[in-house]
Amino acid sequence: MLSVNHINKTFATGRQALTDISFTANKGEFIAIIGPSGAGKSTILRSINRLINTDSGEISLDGQDIRHAKKKELRLIRRQIGMIFQSANLVPHLTVIENVLHGRLGYQSTLRGVFGWYSQVEKEEAVALLTAVGLADFMYNRCDELSGGQMQRVGIARALMQHPNLLLCDEPIASLDPQSAKTVMDYLHRLTKKANITCIVNLHQIDAAREYADRILGINQGHLVFSGIQDELTPTVLEQLYQDSED
Ligand code: ADP
Repeated sequence: MLSVNHINKTFATGRQALTDISFTANKGEFIAIIGPSGAGKSTILRSINRLINTDSGEISLDGQDIRHAKKKELRLIRRQIGMIFQSANLVPHLTVIENVLHGRLGYQSTLRGVFGWYSQVEKEEAVALLTAVGLADFMYNRCDELSGGQMQRVGIARALMQHPNLLLCDEPIASLDPQSAKTVMDYLHRLTKKANITCIVNLHQIDAAREYADRILGINQGHLVFSGIQDELTPTVLEQLYQDSED
């Protein structure tokens, strides 16, 4: 279980990005974070895997203290956290399957990774994951030959190859057309449920949050202003959530 307790973050610029944010996320739960641009959604995700350090509060994953973890401990915790970004961040000149196998890098020596020495079991798993995201026919294509939606699906396979307990997705469908966005969300939802892992997705698209999330968190100006299921996300709540924003 992920537990975020009373976290605060003020950047060096003086901007208070997060104020007293608390929530928990259970195993198998699919959570969407919505809110206007600049509300603090990315800052929450980056705080969880400690790409940034929060000023106070507590963050733990399955009882492991993320905020105070030392270097080696943090490396082990990060191995349990998969990340998916707005652009898939693949290595463009490598093949699809090579990119997916990169998900194992945190588990092996640098030398093995550099030479691409993966075990048969790892290769079979990569093939199974690529089949699961509908890309079996593209395994040996270079990643720069794929569409944006296909790249995101490779990103999902790569993240799952890491065997994460937690998947953090920062606007994974922001740059996709509606049909590709739907395909990507379908796979993301289905595969995280199948693996029974916690998935937290920052979304600009309220409809997608409604359709897929077990629970929705609403952020406005660094404050958690809503936590509930889709039926509770009424027009009045949405109006409050997006007030004073240009979205
Ligand atoms: P969202 O993901 O909801 O669009 P962010 O978490 O990216 O919002 O940003 C929250 C606020 O923190 C914004 O006002 C943004 O400008 C500010 N911010 C984000 N990252 C930094 C940074 N590295 N330094 C200073 N301010 C930042």
